[in-house]
Amino acid sequence: MKKYLVIGNPIKHSLSPKLHNHWIKQNNVNAVYEKKQLEEVGIQGIISEIKNGKIEGINVTVPFKKSVIPFLDELEYFAKKTQSVNTIYKKKDKVVGDNTDVKGFQYALQHIKYSAKGKKIFILGAGGVTSSIIFALKQLGASTIMLSNRTKEKAENLKKIYPDLDLIKWGNIKNFDMIINATSIGLKENDKIPINYDQIDPGKFFYDVIYNPKKTNFLLEGEKRDNQIENGKIMFAYQAALAFEIWTGLLPSVNKKVLQLLEND
Ligand code: NDP
Repeated sequence: MKKYLVIGNPIKHSLSPKLHNHWIKQNNVNAVYEKKQLEEVGIQGIISEIKNGKIEGINVTVPFKKSVIPFLDELEYFAKKTQSVNTIYKKKDKVVGDNTDVKGFQYALQHIKYSAKGKKIFILGAGGVTSSIIFALKQLGASTIMLSNRTKEKAENLKKIYPDLDLIKWGNIKNFDMIINATSIGLKENDKIPINYDQIDPGKFFYDVIYNPKKTNFLLEGEKRDNQIENGKIMFAYQAALAFEIWTGLLPSVNKKVLQLLEND
């Protein structure tokens, strides 16, 4: 039986096992998908299990999307461009890192029929997933991308990859069409982003990459002020479907049933 895993810290929130095991069963794949909480020192060991064939594939979540890279033999196109890996597998005898977050985010916007073309986007956070979101938004033709992160150096590092980013001091707000919470603030209850929501006019689009909990404080603040809101559930489903395809050659569809499955938790 093949074994797949999602690694991260924290990992309790992850619905990856639920979704992948659903597709495994649906497609009669002889496999099981589990989750594993790790410390940074455990990364090398777990990746070596791909090399020796004990594990077939790994998904990577917060906070390891970048820190897995030194232990991989090769990066696929989006992983190389974004320096962020969420899917690992073995190709011939090489351990390869890929990134399905870029397409996952693009498909999620398409799914809800939101066009980012010509839009001003304000991103909070400069962790592993942010680079994928910036890359996706640039491909979709966003006019301006502003970025704000607590640790300034991380935002500056992203500006080295994307020189036209507009860096904003953490806690400040500029005018935007769409604001994205790409931090992990909200994973824990009572987590709050230190921005003044009263400075934001209504009619904007609040997008949170977090999908569990369903409505973070950030989304509740947006909703309360008459803004469109969306959580990361659809993105999550698409990035998972694309990872499943990489591993098995089968692309599951992201339909009502799949999204419902993620609701019932
Ligand atoms: P990282 O750990 O790489 O980055 C975390 C980010 O959150 C950093 O920018 C960090 O800022 C910021 N942050 C965390 N705590 C605080 C705090 N208390 N105050 C201010 N800033 C804080 O995580 P990822 O980029 O990999 O993931 C971010 C989120 O996106 C996670 O919640 C993850 O679950 C979600 N995600 C969802 C996906 C989906 O498909 N829907 C796909 C991928 C990720 P600093 O640099 O200052 O530490």
